[in-house]
Amino acid sequence: MRYRSTAGQAPPVSLAEAVHRGLAPDGGLYLPEPMPRLPGAFFRELPGRPLAATARQLLAPYVGDELDAERLDEVVAETFSFPIPVTPLEGGIFLLELFHGPTLAFKDVGARFLARLLAALEPPGRDPAEPVTVLVATSGDTGGAVARAFHGVAGTRVVVLYPEGGVSPLQERQLATLGGNVVAVAVAGSFDDCQRLVKGAFADPALASRLALTSANSINIGRLLPQAVYYAHGVGQLPAGTGAPLVVVPSGNLGNLTAGILAERAGLPLRRFLAAVNANAVLPDYLASGVSRPRPSVATLANAMDVGDPSNLARLRDLFGDDPRRMGERIWASTHDDEAIRRTISAVHHRTGTLLDPHTAVGWLGLDAYRRATGDESPALLLATAHPAKFGEVVGEILGEPVPLPPALERCLGAPLERRRIPAEAAALERLLREEAGEG
Ligand SMILES: *Cc1c(COP(=O)(O)O)cnc(C)c1O
Repeated sequence: MRYRSTAGQAPPVSLAEAVHRGLAPDGGLYLPEPMPRLPGAFFRELPGRPLAATARQLLAPYVGDELDAERLDEVVAETFSFPIPVTPLEGGIFLLELFHGPTLAFKDVGARFLARLLAALEPPGRDPAEPVTVLVATSGDTGGAVARAFHGVAGTRVVVLYPEGGVSPLQERQLATLGGNVVAVAVAGSFDDCQRLVKGAFADPALASRLALTSANSINIGRLLPQAVYYAHGVGQLPAGTGAPLVVVPSGNLGNLTAGILAERAGLPLRRFLAAVNANAVLPDYLASGVSRPRPSVATLANAMDVGDPSNLARLRDLFGDDPRRMGERIWASTHDDEAIRRTISAVHHRTGTLLDPHTAVGWLGLDAYRRATGDESPALLLATAHPAKFGEVVGEILGEPVPLPPALERCLGAPLERRRIPAEAAALERLLREEAGEG
């Protein structure tokens, strides 16, 4: 299997090279070439098949001969070490619970797979004795998931940039209390500033090669591939005879949505994707106008989706031949404000007893809007991207009662913060990276 750049100006590479590079040298993002397609029997036999078996079979063609079957089994077993169940709710809605991992959000899946892939695949042309530096910008959840996934993995160092004051106190505790090979960096700026700094560091060839920089953002194809797995696993858990469902994806940087498109291209039968975004409406605007207009991000209650310049739009555009009309046939997008999020969390809790986190609530709103606009009442798989307790301050305030913390989160609240602080300037990040690499 080869991986090509969406920018088309760099040669195709192996999976090892794609995951160690993160971004292609021409600034594009990697996509598999050719796109794998699995036999129909694989999809017909999804019901009842264990998650690990689905993962192994679905991922094998993307990995090709770069890992032997035994090693792939290990990587899969260590990645999918928690269940991903489906819970039926009212009105033909099925909740795909992606929040049973160590940091209670779907990003655990991608981060755990990537950490193990980087450890398992030989870095091309690189001194294996030198640690890989994983550089990641986070708007909240990514940082915690990546930090946890890499913490203690030999031969890796993780530098996590987050907007100071732009993540919840709990999110900050999750990423800035680990220590060891995890360096948490509070940036005086927005998530987009963090992402810009990360892109800048990768664009500096001397720095990137000296530090063996690699990315764990969803620009890294190693994050996306395992996310295709739970789309298939979710469909496999629907009641017999349900047919191809709508799939609702609460979206920000569009990595999760792109993984869903990969699953569909592999042959998974889906009715349509509903991409639900918060007030950061780049995707709906692109589909409506045909023009992509990145903009500064707006802070919302669903802060892990506060993205004003979604990286994976480049992959989506590529996958649909840069034709917004074609993309619109498969992806229906909608935007929802904080007031609607509040109303939905409260109303759904009252009516059904189910507690939605703010991101999943955006998905609920997206489905509602789609059904009203189209009259299409098909069953829907709603991706529940985070556990409501992860956003306990927001959810608790809306409900007027505190949300109990799961024990895993309770524990990290007591730990002291270990973080560094920098202004949103490339020079400050470079200085920090060189110091961490022992050059300072
Ligand atoms: C990251 C995140 C999203 C958005 O996912 P993308 O792949 O960036 O579109 C949605 N919900 C939660 C809880 C997240 O952490």
